[in-house]
Amino acid sequence: MNYYPDPDCSDLAGKLATLLNVRPNEIVFGNGSDEILSFIFTGLCGRGAAFPKVTYSFYKILAEFHGVNYITLPLRDFRIRPEDYVNLRGRTVFIANPNAPTGLALGLAELEGVITANPESLIVIDEAYIDFGGVSAVGLVHEYENVMVVRTFSKSRSLAGARLGWCVAGEMVARDLRTIKNAVAPYNVNAMTQGAALGALEDEEYTRRNIGEICRTREGVKGELREMGFEVLDSETNFLFARHESVSGGKIHEELKSEGIIIRHFSSLPEWNRITIGTPEQMNRFLGAVKNLVNRQA
Ligand code: PMP
Repeated sequence: MNYYPDPDCSDLAGKLATLLNVRPNEIVFGNGSDEILSFIFTGLCGRGAAFPKVTYSFYKILAEFHGVNYITLPLRDFRIRPEDYVNLRGRTVFIANPNAPTGLALGLAELEGVITANPESLIVIDEAYIDFGGVSAVGLVHEYENVMVVRTFSKSRSLAGARLGWCVAGEMVARDLRTIKNAVAPYNVNAMTQGAALGALEDEEYTRRNIGEICRTREGVKGELREMGFEVLDSETNFLFARHESVSGGKIHEELKSEGIIIRHFSSLPEWNRITIGTPEQMNRFLGAVKNLVNRQA
């Protein structure tokens, strides 16, 4: 710990590059993927930004903080429509795939539609949840110069506390991002996190089991919620997006909170809540509390 960490995370880059079939210098690491997003808004949004109206809330916060002019594009039936992503005039496009908080994913062909329709834009595909469903666009970085894929160790690898995110892009874009990183936070990934992440990459079997368990729990919870009168979107992530036919989203959120169970409520979508999948024990407690609440209202 008396030495500074490797600013390029070379061991990690080498290992990940082999796993992904890319070159190590096409990968850049961040203190969580939030830091990568922040680097992008710092220096790669010169012609503005574009993202869906309902998506990861940090894009808007970063755009406003960095003074980046941005537009938002509507969803239809909670889905991103690639045909809306035209005439963006070089704006950097952010697409969370699968999207949050809806849990819905676009296919590769739809993403390619957005990429080819906007050759002057950098297309940032935020794959925070990709291991739970959907198809990764990592392979597209060698086909298109204007694509960057952002990933995290926080979700499928259950390492949110370690703060490690990474992105992969063609050599030119990766070099520009590295220039920003080296100016803003050269030692952004500490040595303990680099070591933990290397260990995590050595146990792919554990990660696969972890993902399988989360997806099984998710599907079980989805079924039970539907039986209780919830509309639940089909999720490709580690959370569910749901609303009840007669109890308001705000009420469900408040009542659960008073019992020490935290789900996400969005004032912009007041009927709905986002429920992160925890352990089977946590989800049983959640389902018990929701059942009581719904029965009390009936
Ligand atoms: N992207 C999306 C879509 C997310 O939901 C999150 C988690 N809040 C992040 C990025 C950031 O994750 P982290 O900084 O933990 O890598």
